[in-house]
Amino acid sequence: MRQTKQKRYIMEAFQNYHGHPTAEELYAVLSPKHPRLSLATVYRNLNQFADKGMINRVIIPNGPTRFDSILDFHYHAICEECGELFDIDSPEIRAVDEAIHNIKAFNVSNYKIMLYGTCDLCKVKSQHLHENPSFN
Ligand SMILES: [Zn+2]
Ligand SMILES: [Zn+2]
Repeated sequence: MRQTKQKRYIMEAFQNYHGHPTAEELYAVLSPKHPRLSLATVYRNLNQFADKGMINRVIIPNGPTRFDSILDFHYHAICEECGELFDIDSPEIRAVDEAIHNIKAFNVSNYKIMLYGTCDLCKVKSQHLHENPSFN
């Protein structure tokens, strides 16, 4: 009974969270309201949701696992400046997805692609920095 309630408020916090939280980030949101909740419990529940296909797990090499509420097709892009993870969907990316699934030499059931680069915000920042070194 207690576990069901726990699951519900962890899922609620997750769905209200904007973006792709780590277990730690979600725990930071939950712990003021639920002081008896542990990080391990948040982590375990998020993994259980992911195992059941209710949420997506985003594995980031050299980074903590993030969780995603969007189950529909999309790619992820990570900004190497600020570390923010972005959802990417575009006709070009759908064409790549189609091409991968059309590969004849292998039966592709799943694959992972992570785009690395600079987000718009960091791009603007570095441009300003270039024009005016005192800007930060
Ligand atoms: Zn950035
Ligand atoms: Zn996503």
